Amino acid sequence: MAKRLAIIGAGISGLAAAHAARSHNDTIEIVVLEKDSQVGGKARSLSFGDWRMEAGPTGFLDNEPILDRLIDAAGLTNQRLPANPSAAHRFLLRNGRLREAHAHPLRFAASGILGPLGLARIAAEPFIPRHPAAEEESVFDFAARRLGTQAAERLIAPMVLGVFAGDARRLSLAAAFPKLAALEQDHGSLIRGMVARRRSGKTEGGPAGPAGWLTSFKEGMQSLPLALAQQGKFEVRTNSTVQTLERRGNQWHIALAGQETLRADALILATEPWAMAEMLDTVHARIAEHLALIPCPAVSVVALGLPKASAQGVPTGFGVLIPRAEGYRALGCLWDSRLFPGRAPQQGLLMRLMYGGSVDPEIAEMDEQALIALAQHEATRLFGIEGPPMFAHAIRWPRAIPQYEIGHLERVGGIEESLHNLPGLYLAGNGLYGIAFGRSAAAGYSAGEEAALYLAD
Ligand SMILES: Cc1cc2nc3c(=O)[nH]c(=O)nc-3n(C[C@H](O)[C@H](O)[C@H](O)COP(=O)(O)OP(=O)(O)OC[C@H]3O[C@@H](n4cnc5c(N)ncnc54)[C@H](O)[C@@H]3O)c2cc1C
Repeated sequence: MAKRLAIIGAGISGLAAAHAARSHNDTIEIVVLEKDSQVGGKARSLSFGDWRMEAGPTGFLDNEPILDRLIDAAGLTNQRLPANPSAAHRFLLRNGRLREAHAHPLRFAASGILGPLGLARIAAEPFIPRHPAAEEESVFDFAARRLGTQAAERLIAPMVLGVFAGDARRLSLAAAFPKLAALEQDHGSLIRGMVARRRSGKTEGGPAGPAGWLTSFKEGMQSLPLALAQQGKFEVRTNSTVQTLERRGNQWHIALAGQETLRADALILATEPWAMAEMLDTVHARIAEHLALIPCPAVSVVALGLPKASAQGVPTGFGVLIPRAEGYRALGCLWDSRLFPGRAPQQGLLMRLMYGGSVDPEIAEMDEQALIALAQHEATRLFGIEGPPMFAHAIRWPRAIPQYEIGHLERVGGIEESLHNLPGLYLAGNGLYGIAFGRSAAAGYSAGEEAALYLAD
């Protein structure tokens, strides 16, 4: 009888895992179990007439080779949609005004985001001594130490809100932004490191990404999970919630809601960390404890479709980050139809406001109507919009983005060590090794390869 690999979760991680396992082993049976009625997880693209809204990721950076491989294999190469070059214009709110965070130092200095002392402190960055690599530091402390408190508060903390919906004071630099940590360790200074990388041609950056070009698909981000699932190379069962797991001998017994039990010879968990914790509770309490300690605060996303004529205060660019001190509840606002064509009707502009994260967990209590009213009010205040939107839709993710807080790497180390005692079990998903869509795909892919090798032995 063919050996069976079960993968729990049909987000990009689980589907990348299934694809990789199939590419490495064409004799095993592969089944992906998904509790939702559709595949994609957080990558969910919704259409309302001519409005196309992303409920989750806006795009991915095109610097992840595994994603290229998956896109190619899924037949989506000609569906790739690079962001408009104007996406390189990114804004920050400071004292109620939108200011462009220019990449050019002189133009940045003139933007008013930092005062003279803050700018002078950044100029001193190359002379700040290197931090001992072994000492874990928060993103905020790192930024304050290297760039000064002003830059940490006005620039880095809002950027962390934009990426993680997270609190820079709680996130671990080494876990959340390993490339920044490496820049300091390798070059002794961020500025020297960036200059060296530019000289060696390693900054292939473009719009909306220092080391990659922001990209999506014509039909949105869900296209990739959908295409991978539809290829028929493995079985995908939606509406299949895994309730408990049990290990008997070398086999896994997977209890699904509705009494059915499935057996598998290897298992990949590609869900959110809290969901893995629930499933592993009776299998390995220590791993479950570590996973349960990775917080996943709520994020709510509100899309507003506006007549272009009423949204002339919205600049051309990627979007605006909003520091907490500015007195808005929104963490930031993205101008989707300025990034990608096909997101709004001809005369319309689509924007999304992001709410919640670890700095505003109460957002989980707010229903869709209240969220839309809040977003309308804040968009009007930000951009001077007149009149009602043509379209509005809110999505609530009760547990959205894993937070890699101080202690995360130690937690991951503890999990990896315990996994040695559970051969045939692999963890993927965005809870451990990177929260970006591309990193999730890569983690899933390597879990799939390892599981295929294990089953081939
Ligand atoms: C609002 C938002 C915006 C984002 N923006 C970006 C962005 O612009 N760029 C970027 O790179 N990343 C972004 N991200 C992050 C990115 O979307 C995720 O990291 C990535 O999609 C995670 O994929 P995944 O497969 O690991 O997890 P998920 O997509 O969370 O998939 C996990 C799946 O497991 C299923 N599951 C859970 N429990 C069970 C169970 N018991 N039984 C069966 N199935 C189960 C779930 O239903 C889900 O489908 C964003 C995330 C959010 C929430």
